Amino acid sequence: MIGLYGGTFDPVHNGHIHAALQVQQALSLRQIRLVLAARPGHRQPPRADVEHRWQMLRLAVAEHAVLAADDSEVKRRGHSYTIDTLQEFNARQPGDVPVWIIGQDAFATLDSWHRWRELMDCCNLAVVDRPGDARAEPPSVQQMWRTHGVRRLEHGKIGQIVRLSLPMQQVSATEIRRKVACGEPFEHLLAGPVCTYIRRHGLYTTRCRTAEETVI
Ligand code: ATP
Repeated sequence: MIGLYGGTFDPVHNGHIHAALQVQQALSLRQIRLVLAARPGHRQPPRADVEHRWQMLRLAVAEHAVLAADDSEVKRRGHSYTIDTLQEFNARQPGDVPVWIIGQDAFATLDSWHRWRELMDCCNLAVVDRPGDARAEPPSVQQMWRTHGVRRLEHGKIGQIVRLSLPMQQVSATEIRRKVACGEPFEHLLAGPVCTYIRRHGLYTTRCRTAEETVI
């Protein structure tokens, strides 16, 4: 099985890389492809341009043999919808069951995703904890869990959801953007080459003013 891990990666941080490596080991996945949500349709536009986020993602995965950066949503026009990415993947690699990796905070919003009910026809879902950001799951998502939830993924099958109890790091891109803007240390939260890239291109430097004027 192959893992697909989607995100705006604005910027990609140690929490993402740690989660990907943990899941890869726990599920013995051949590879995990980090799919850049270039133009997300269901949330605020990212702060950094697609090109910057893509370069940072490439830098972050470079030192991990089992990780790869995936540009399928960068190349596609229009909004980046996970359902399109999964259908494209399945058409390209029939028989290779994708496991879509998702944090619990994002899983709790699944019912706002484009054609969300069709997702289970295209992949398995692996839900990881999001320390510091646990969210209540709405009834529709709870129902999906009751229908598709399993204790272990069965190989060769599609439409399963597994919750993985793995240690995760409490890091968020929002917090990193705030730290950069406020001049606080952030280097310990990101891969070295990503820090260098952020500094070289002056990303996320817009300063915070008041809570109401948050510019993260
Ligand atoms: P932002 O703060 O801008 O919302 P983020 O840190 O949540 O960003 P995203 O790119 O939005 O990062 O997240 C991509 C995916 O990674 C989502 O499924 C999210 O739940 C998950 N994720 C993000 N950070 C972590 C973490 N520290 N541990 C586990 N999963 C994470």
